[in-house]
Amino acid sequence: MKSAIKIWQGNIQEIKDSGLWKDERVITTPQSSKIDTTKNKDLINMCANNYLGLSNSDVLTAAAKESLDKWGYGLSSVRFICGTQAIHKELEDKITAFMKQEDTILYSSCFDANTGLFETILGADDAILSDELNHASIIDGIRLCKAKRFRYKNNDMADLENCLKEAKDARIRLIITDGVFSMDGIIANLSALCDLADKYDAIVAVDESHATGVIGKTGRGSIEYCNVMDRVDIVTGTLGKALGGASGGFTSGRKEIIDILRQRSRPYLFSNTLSPTIAAASVKAFDMLLSSTALVEKLHSNMEHYVEKLKSNGFEILDGRHPIIPIMVYDELIAQKMAAMLLDKGIYAVGFFYPVVPKGRARIRTQVSAAHTKEQLDYVVDTFIECRKELGL
Ligand SMILES: *Cc1c(COP(=O)(O)O)cnc(C)c1O
Repeated sequence: MKSAIKIWQGNIQEIKDSGLWKDERVITTPQSSKIDTTKNKDLINMCANNYLGLSNSDVLTAAAKESLDKWGYGLSSVRFICGTQAIHKELEDKITAFMKQEDTILYSSCFDANTGLFETILGADDAILSDELNHASIIDGIRLCKAKRFRYKNNDMADLENCLKEAKDARIRLIITDGVFSMDGIIANLSALCDLADKYDAIVAVDESHATGVIGKTGRGSIEYCNVMDRVDIVTGTLGKALGGASGGFTSGRKEIIDILRQRSRPYLFSNTLSPTIAAASVKAFDMLLSSTALVEKLHSNMEHYVEKLKSNGFEILDGRHPIIPIMVYDELIAQKMAAMLLDKGIYAVGFFYPVVPKGRARIRTQVSAAHTKEQLDYVVDTFIECRKELGL
């Protein structure tokens, strides 16, 4: 056996010993509020990012099918050689209009949007100020960039201000934050963040992956929720969550920024174009959001119903202004037991415990969708009550 294989076998054993080995659950249905798996039947799905229920929407699948006949299957090219069809430009314009920005550039994922952002627009004389809980793709993007790095405490504006003071001699200062922190479902304090950006002449970038189509009165995200749409310079986001959930990402912002990204951003230049099928269905997803707030309102009404019922039954939840709703259990062992019991009773929700979250802060993370019925959400809360009893809590 080659020595490398032995090393990797050791690595695998280490993960298994730590109890963090992940088995993938195979689902045998489209993504929906209810899914079927090979082991359990009929699970209520409380862990998808399918916030608007668009992952299996008739409108989107019809648009995707139609697009196959009109635009074909694939492009076999990057955008700037022969991989730009009218549908890609249409989607970019649609996102620009939705975000009320000047221009938009598409990527294969938001992971790519983030890894292709910082090194392209910043150099060694510049500074990046990044929230400590930012997504892995932001962390990787920052690693690729030569700018000086400042990591501030989660959503801590006093700490951010200290970092801004320390970075006062940098040529450009860029603040980057998740609009929503996905472990806790907490919305970034963007209003105070933008005030600091004004005070210290900094650019503001927000990753809206868990926010676009999810929060804000019209689904325009945390930037709408916090009333800062015209104060943010760069927005990155994904097509892989609320907006149909296939894949794809984007960066919207000032024309100067998008122009440079189109010339120099490496994942854009060196990775294949987004499939026209996804582009066409995504145009429909944005059309739906631009023409009606019905889906967003349904999501918010489901969320309020669920949070209200959890609270009135004495469950401690984090925040509750975003459809990511973690139910605090604190004890690692109880969280694991509870997640297993829920599964037995037909509910798919994920337990998070140390080291994914701090010790003694174990929780069951649930996510509400517009696709859920109130009856399903009632059943989920009733089952939580049942589990609590059975565990003697
Ligand atoms: C999900 C997520 C991403 C990655 O998006 P993909 O399009 O799946 O690559 C990036 N940033 C944040 C904050 C996310 O939640």
